[in-house]
Amino acid sequence: MDKIMINHPISYGHQLITDEDIQAVVETLKSDYLTQGPRIPEFEQNFASYLGVNYACMVSNGTAALHLCAMALDIKPGDKVITTPITFVASANGFRYLGADIVFCDIDANTYLMDLDKLEQILKSAPKGTYKAVVPVDFAGYPIDEERLHNLAVEFGFKTVIDCCHAPGGSWTDSKGEKQMVGNCKYADLSVFSFHPVKHIAAGEGGCITTNNKELYDKVALYRTHGITKDPDLLTRNDGGWYYEMQELGYNYRITEFQAALASSQLKRLDWSIARRNEIAKRYDEAFKNLPVLTPFRESGITHAFHLYIIEVHPNKRKGLYDYLREHNIFAQVLYIPAHTMPYYKSLGHKEGECPIAEDYYTRCLALPMYPSLTNEEQEYVIEKVKTFFGR
Ligand SMILES: *Cc1c(COP(=O)(O)O)cnc(C)c1O
Repeated sequence: MDKIMINHPISYGHQLITDEDIQAVVETLKSDYLTQGPRIPEFEQNFASYLGVNYACMVSNGTAALHLCAMALDIKPGDKVITTPITFVASANGFRYLGADIVFCDIDANTYLMDLDKLEQILKSAPKGTYKAVVPVDFAGYPIDEERLHNLAVEFGFKTVIDCCHAPGGSWTDSKGEKQMVGNCKYADLSVFSFHPVKHIAAGEGGCITTNNKELYDKVALYRTHGITKDPDLLTRNDGGWYYEMQELGYNYRITEFQAALASSQLKRLDWSIARRNEIAKRYDEAFKNLPVLTPFRESGITHAFHLYIIEVHPNKRKGLYDYLREHNIFAQVLYIPAHTMPYYKSLGHKEGECPIAEDYYTRCLALPMYPSLTNEEQEYVIEKVKTFFGR
């Protein structure tokens, strides 16, 4: 009954590198700069204008971007920072580096994003100003309601860092009916992106911080490179052309020129990638209609960036389906193991039972292959195997 034969592994996500991408990297390797040259500001400008944001600061990876945001917000040991358990652990770790006390807010059962009703309950149960920052994640590519978050931020006095690592190219609609690009920071203090190969823009490693706040931008840009500046306006004295000052304890979180060139080349295909991902999602949705499979929730007014295509199946079937697909060379993935159940976060006092919706989600979720270069034939093969598993 198997109609399609596929003999190569199909993973849940995969980068696409075109001849144009390779050309861009090769040209950069032959240029005068391998780091700290023109390609980095070029990407920053391209990305900022694509998103419609004033400032972009490209860094070595998404985790570094989160760490720099925490530094720019002056997070201190014991400061309370709220994030979601259904994310890559870096969303929390970036703030832990500075000793923040991480609070995990449970997710919404439909969108899998931080549940803003629950967030409001958490905020209301403590004096205003208790929480220093809130870090929601546009998980799987689904944009969070940044406007509602902003209103809460104004009421309760916290800063917002949106982890947009899954959602470049995604958008949502605000209450005035205006389309808002993910990462434009119209309603947020800071946003962060990752350019890990499994993400939309695959630069090998890489990350970016966006903001409309000049002061925050200056801070992350300074901390990106050791806290060193040569800006004559900022120097406390000036001994001559060679002179620079280290004014803060920063890091080396720089990215290379060839990674920036690769990222710029890929940025040109981002809209195509989002469109293609949505096409793939639609085909899955259709194919799974009569199966005991829950397909991803969508609301009108949003453009889902579909970093991941996540289905929910009965907890008794999930491992079986995962193993069955693996036997057939399909490497579906379970994303994510709730962060608060990680041994490290348990060692800080977090417990199972803290976020029941997230924990239940974890028993059901499975990310199927989703990336723009997935061929129709490969997708048909995946669909066929899922159907066969359920005996259809
Ligand atoms: C990938 C990712 C990060 C971290 O990015 P790196 O570039 O791998 O450091 C942070 N948050 C989320 C949600 C991610 O998916």
